[in-house]
Amino acid sequence: MENETSKIVPILPVPYSRSRQAGEAQDMLDHIVEDFQDNPQSMQYFYDLFRSVYCHGDEVKHEGKLVGTTCIHAPEELIYAFGATPVRLCNGSYHYDQKGADFMPAKSCSLVKATLGMLNSDNVIPKIGKPDLIVNPTTCDQKKKSSVMMEGMGYSVYDLELPNVKESEAARVYWQRSVRQFAVRLRELTGKKLTRKNLQAAMAKTSRAQVAFRKLHNFRLKSPSLILGKDAFLVTNAYFFDDIERWTDAVEKLNEELAQREQSGFKAVQSKAPRVLFTGSPPIFPNLKLPLLIEEAGGVVVTDETCSSNRMLYDMTAVDEWLVHDMVDSLADKYLKPCTCPIFTRNDDRIRRLLDLVKSYGVDGVVYQAFAGCQVYEMEYRSVADAFNKAGIAMLYVETDYSVDDKGQLSTRIEAFLESLKNRKKHKG
Ligand code: SF4
Ligand code: SF4
Repeated sequence: MENETSKIVPILPVPYSRSRQAGEAQDMLDHIVEDFQDNPQSMQYFYDLFRSVYCHGDEVKHEGKLVGTTCIHAPEELIYAFGATPVRLCNGSYHYDQKGADFMPAKSCSLVKATLGMLNSDNVIPKIGKPDLIVNPTTCDQKKKSSVMMEGMGYSVYDLELPNVKESEAARVYWQRSVRQFAVRLRELTGKKLTRKNLQAAMAKTSRAQVAFRKLHNFRLKSPSLILGKDAFLVTNAYFFDDIERWTDAVEKLNEELAQREQSGFKAVQSKAPRVLFTGSPPIFPNLKLPLLIEEAGGVVVTDETCSSNRMLYDMTAVDEWLVHDMVDSLADKYLKPCTCPIFTRNDDRIRRLLDLVKSYGVDGVVYQAFAGCQVYEMEYRSVADAFNKAGIAMLYVETDYSVDDKGQLSTRIEAFLESLKNRKKHKG
C-alpha cells in the first residue's frame, strides 16, 4: 500500500514560455506573422528575435555596463562612447501594466505602469539583467516621479534634467549642461574617459542605424505600400534592446528586399487602401493593438509621429566642430530641438511635422492614440485637431490603454473611420 508521502506531488514553477506575458507576446506575434500575407522574408529576423526574447525569455547579451533608459531624450551615443550598452526600458506589456497597477495610482499611463511593473518583477523581460544605471530624463510628471520608485526597487537612477521649453537659449544652455553632467556620471560608472575618438565611433554607430532607418522610412513613401506599418513598428521596437550593429544589418537587408519589391511593382496592399499617419502615445510591443486593428481593417500605416519609431530614429546630429565639447553640445541639440513630444510647454513643431508628413506620405487620415492617464497627449489633442480641421484632414482620436477589453469597440470605430476615408478618396478621385 502507498504511504501518505508518496502522494505529494511537488509544485514545479511554470516555465517562462507558458507564463502569461509569454502568451501575450505569442498572441501578438502570431497575429502579426500569420494573419497577413506577403510578409517580407527579411522580417523573419525580427519575428525570430521577438519570439526568442519575449516568448522564450532568452537572455539579451550586452557589452560593458548596462544603462537603462526610460525615454528617447537620453543620448545613447554618450552611453556607447563610454563602452556601455543602452537599453530602452519603456514597456508595452499588459501583464506588467497590471503588476504596476498594484502600486501605482489607478489613473497612471499604461506605459509608465508597465515599465515600473516590469522593473519590480522577478522575471524582467526582455531578460537584460539588472541595469547598472537607469537614466530617467525628467519629462512628463509620471516619468519624473518614477525615479524615486525605481530607487525604492533597488536601482541606481540618474535624473537627466530636461527643460520644460525648448525654444529659448536659456533652455538650450541648461540642457547642454545637463548632458555634460550626464557624461560625468557615465565616467564615474564606467571608469572610462570620453574622447573624440570613442564619441566619434559611437556617433558613427548610431548614424549608420539612422541612415538604414531613414531609407526604410523613404520606402514607405511609395503608394501602394511596399511594407505594412505593423512590420515597421516591430523593426523600430527591436531597436530598444537589440545589438545595434546586428539591428542595422537586418534593416539594411530589409531595405534591399523593399528595393526589389519596388522594382518588380509589388503591392503589399490594395491601391485603394487608406493611408494612415499614426501619432500620439507610442505603440510598444506587445501592445501593437491599434496599428494592427487599422491594418486588419484594410488601412495601412504609412508613417508615424511617435517616440517608438520615427521620433526615436529620424533626427540626426549636426556637428560643426569635431572637438569633444562641441560634439557633446551638438548631441544635446539633437535630443532637444527636433523633439515633438507634448511634454514641452509649447509644441508648434509637432503640428508642423504632422502636416509635413501628411503631405509627403500622401496620407488620407490620421489616428491619434492617447493612453488613458496621459494628460499631455490628451491636452494637445485639441490643437492638433484644430490644425487638421483647418487643413481638411480627417483624424480619429482614440483614448486607450494596454488591455484588450476595448478591442471590439475600437475595431468598429476604426472600420467606420477607414470607410469614411475611402468615400472621401472616391469623391476626390
Ligand atoms: S512619450 Fe515623450 S516623455 Fe514619454 S517616453 Fe516618449 S518621448 Fe519620452
Ligand atoms: S504616454 Fe504620456 S504619461 Fe505616458 S510616458 Fe508618454 S508622456 Fe508620459
